[in-house]
Amino acid sequence: MLVNSSLDEVKRRETALHYLAHLVKQDGREALFDLTGLAGGFPLSQDDIALLETYAGPALFGEDLDRWGKKHLGGEKLLALNRTSSGILAAILALVQHGQEVVHYLPEKPSHPSIPRSCQLIGASYQEYSVDEDLELGDATALLVITGSTMDHQVLSQEDFERAIQAAHQRKVPVLVDDASGARLRTVIYGQPRAMDLGADLVITSTDKLMEGPRGGLMAGKTNLIDLIKTKAHQFGLEAQPPLIAAMARALEKFNPHNLELARTRKDQLHLSLASSLVGLEKTPTGVMLTPTSLMKNMGMKTTLTPKDAAILLAMLLLKEENILTIPAVGMPGASVTIRLDLASPDAQRLSDAAIGNSLQNALEVLRATASDLEACRRVLYQ
Ligand SMILES: *Cc1c(COP(=O)(O)O)cnc(C)c1O
Repeated sequence: MLVNSSLDEVKRRETALHYLAHLVKQDGREALFDLTGLAGGFPLSQDDIALLETYAGPALFGEDLDRWGKKHLGGEKLLALNRTSSGILAAILALVQHGQEVVHYLPEKPSHPSIPRSCQLIGASYQEYSVDEDLELGDATALLVITGSTMDHQVLSQEDFERAIQAAHQRKVPVLVDDASGARLRTVIYGQPRAMDLGADLVITSTDKLMEGPRGGLMAGKTNLIDLIKTKAHQFGLEAQPPLIAAMARALEKFNPHNLELARTRKDQLHLSLASSLVGLEKTPTGVMLTPTSLMKNMGMKTTLTPKDAAILLAMLLLKEENILTIPAVGMPGASVTIRLDLASPDAQRLSDAAIGNSLQNALEVLRATASDLEACRRVLYQ
């Protein structure tokens, strides 16, 4: 295997960032096509930036975040965190004891790694159930985490959502919804209610996913629970700092679901034009994706590469050969390695469907030509 550990993933990410820096310095930002759906943004005005230097600024931005954040997520109180992963850790530190259990209910495995890793850190046991399995809560269950939309944008149905919340509440177990992308995908694309309106006690979203905000975690929920989590977050430095809070507030104020709605219709067209040349290409709510298993079917040759290695290599080749950015190139350790092209990304508007198809085919061609030379593969990942 070429990518064996979190350390390998950090190294791969450094390679990708190094290439990105070089590309943008040399050819400008327009040369890059970021299709991650995570493009983010930091929409501060000059006045905002001036205020960051004073004490008044952070107080003001906090109030603005409260206003726009509650509109977006509902809930009684908000908490801004450095990342969604930080918020999940803070919640588990605050609400779960060593020896207790966290149950995770999700549309499809695998889980985002932040949930099992946080449990492992405090010595809590961790159980996960996909919708195909029977959710089981026990006497030791201290928290139910529900993922509204997975890393690959598989979305939980409203019925499954409501049933899981009811099961937890019957046992007086609090419910945290990991709605990293779901806070927008579930509501805008599927017309589902916000997690808090479905009865959740807590919800967290990533302010860079499918909206033009900075990477950060925004949590909303019941005041008593948020207070406990906020205390832990401050103890361990997991909370968002004022510049992040300012950009989160402005990004939420600007949030417009129109881009998502456009992407929903365009993805059908893109899928239609690519499906004949790519075996197993699937639709996501706002784009298309090729799972590692489907990618192997398109290799058309025998290879010693694992599906995961092949997917990461393809993402790195899409970046280095075609200047198209996808998550497996820059993702954090443990992030999904599915090649997902998100048409809600602003850069997607500068690429035709045909151009996307050509780039995929070109990168795939280079992957086939490189696959049997492990040294060359290593150079793609780590140089
Ligand atoms: C992205 C994501 C996270 C983590 O977000 P970070 O910003 O990387 O901390 C957690 N859960 C799900 C389902 C996600 O998609």
